[in-house]
Amino acid sequence: MATILFRETVQVGSAIALLGVWLGLPLPVLASDRCPPAQSSRPWQKPATSSAARATAGPAGQAAVDYGDYRQALDPSAAGWPVLAHWCVWVEPTRLEGPAARFEQRWLMAVESALGQWQGHLSLQRVNDPARAQVLVRRRRPPLISLEPGQRRASHGRASLTLQETERQGVWRLEPRVEVLISPDQRREATEATALHELGHAFGLWGHSPEASDAMAAVPGAVPVLQLSARDLATLRWLYAQPSRFGVPQPENELETGPSEQGSAGTSVVGQDGS
Ligand SMILES: [Zn+2]
Repeated sequence: MATILFRETVQVGSAIALLGVWLGLPLPVLASDRCPPAQSSRPWQKPATSSAARATAGPAGQAAVDYGDYRQALDPSAAGWPVLAHWCVWVEPTRLEGPAARFEQRWLMAVESALGQWQGHLSLQRVNDPARAQVLVRRRRPPLISLEPGQRRASHGRASLTLQETERQGVWRLEPRVEVLISPDQRREATEATALHELGHAFGLWGHSPEASDAMAAVPGAVPVLQLSARDLATLRWLYAQPSRFGVPQPENELETGPSEQGSAGTSVVGQDGS
């Protein structure tokens, strides 16, 4: 069924492209679908033979160097820095009518404002189909976090990273898959600040800034941060200048052909709480 839908999409795309030729419209926008649907996907398994050293943001002992960012706070995944040259983002649809519509629209506008902040500095696009996305944003209160037995803390946002091998248009790639939960229970500005922070994790900033004025602050300040700071942007620039294997087409012979087990030990999941 998925294959049939995929073919239909291609045909529709071709028809639009032909229409574009006919109308004399520029074609590059239609020439390639940068967010094709996943045909299949499985958790990435860390190769047993790999003894590659864990990537680090900087040599130990040089933490005192001030780069004007917080690169030292970032953690790479087991497969390296989980970044993509182009991100496809799905946001849970909201109702337009009914008693809940007003609140859902407020939530959506806050999330869209936060996305707009990141969009100014990253290549990303919204998609209507979750199968086309690497980042999925849901309107949901994150479950309570257990700190110690008997102790729990509520949070308004959460981002969870899974490393997936995903096939799109017949090509397998290692991809980060990030589920972002943004609570529907906050006021507009707080929702926006939470979304800005959690989306920062989603786009690869897996760590926290020690400064409250940064979007990725470990401890949010009294004033919600609605704009990316110079330090946020410097950290982002540094991160995206690092080599990454994510999003790179993988040769067939490098992939294991056996079925992978869901939730096995090789699956890397990073959970982060937000403000
Ligand atoms: Zn966080």
